[in-house]
Amino acid sequence: MKRPLSPQTALIHNDYQAPEGFGAFPVAVQRASTILFKNVAAMRSRHWLDKTAYTYGLHGTPTTFTLEARLAAIEGGTDCLLAPSGLAAIMLVNFAFLHSGDEVLIPDNAYSPNRDLGNWMADAYGITARYYDPLIGAGIAELIGPNTKLLWTEAPGSVSMEMPDIPAICQAAHDKGVLVALDNTWSAGIAFRAFDHGVDIVMHALTKYQSGGSDVLMGAVITREKNLSQKLSLTHMRLGLGVSADDTSLILRSLATLKLRFDTHDASARHIASWFKTRPEITKVLHPALPDCPGHETWKRDFTGAAGLFSVLFDARYTEEQTDRFVDNLQLFKIGFSWGGANSLCIPYRMQTMRANWTEQGQLVRFNIGLEDPVDLIADIEAALALL
Ligand SMILES: *Cc1c(COP(=O)(O)O)cnc(C)c1O
Repeated sequence: MKRPLSPQTALIHNDYQAPEGFGAFPVAVQRASTILFKNVAAMRSRHWLDKTAYTYGLHGTPTTFTLEARLAAIEGGTDCLLAPSGLAAIMLVNFAFLHSGDEVLIPDNAYSPNRDLGNWMADAYGITARYYDPLIGAGIAELIGPNTKLLWTEAPGSVSMEMPDIPAICQAAHDKGVLVALDNTWSAGIAFRAFDHGVDIVMHALTKYQSGGSDVLMGAVITREKNLSQKLSLTHMRLGLGVSADDTSLILRSLATLKLRFDTHDASARHIASWFKTRPEITKVLHPALPDCPGHETWKRDFTGAAGLFSVLFDARYTEEQTDRFVDNLQLFKIGFSWGGANSLCIPYRMQTMRANWTEQGQLVRFNIGLEDPVDLIADIEAALALL
């Protein structure tokens, strides 16, 4: 006869096991720090790098492994690591492949915190960060030196929207043994086959389209070569990067509708961007699917779709005060950073402070087109333009 446990202990120890064979579409949310081993031999034989079993919550649970596997499959890669934000995913790549004395090349139009990270690594870790013209193409070969180890690309830059020639950049980098990482957030892995175009390391801010809910911060790094994924895994462990099962389950829930949402964002954004072309207040529409956008031909050649993010340049006769007022007067478009959710957003940028050689005249305003009816969004913009 088993001695009954006191209620205090029974709160914690309970032999009940739910019957096996439960089937449902959602991936279970497995929260865990401690992960249990059946016996000491199992504990001794398992290694955290081996993702066929579990060792510790930080190294993965069924929930996080499932999202990693799905993201790798979407991208056509073999390995994926999750990070607590898109920026943490960028940092993971930098720390995995850069050591003091190395050089990293970053496009001049890169996501600003990536630039800041380059400057910080230069100041604090003896790494050289150099910035290149995103439209440089094969000309990048001339910038690659003996210490260049990593080359970042972003397609397109998420404010000024220039679309780089990824295959030409990859070719030049690979000729000199340099790794190419792509911030593929804009295409969501849906509109651009990064590995097929030569990229070695694909990074995503899942915070954007994969989440789609404006409520989760997460990043991912995807590779398809074991020597790269091993270096990333070791760095991931040493930096102590982990994500919560709850956040992961939110992304898993959204993933099923990613393509539908992306296509709707794409169609609405192209519709509104084309409408902007008819407006006398606007001199250029920086949307990769429109000819005003530097790198438009490259987009046409390499991409199968476009995201809901684009920028416009106002005629130089409008002051910053006026275009700020335009943004303030929008009702459906809210003011806020990030993008990829159901809500439309609008942000003005001071390009002269972001780019050393920005020559465009006129104020730049960026739009994130959400899932609202584009007819309502255009009416909103039209009303705000009337108050310019
Ligand atoms: C948002 C964003 C990131 C960073 O993602 P967070 O999850 O916000 O850290 C990186 N790159 C691009 C292009 C982004 O838009």
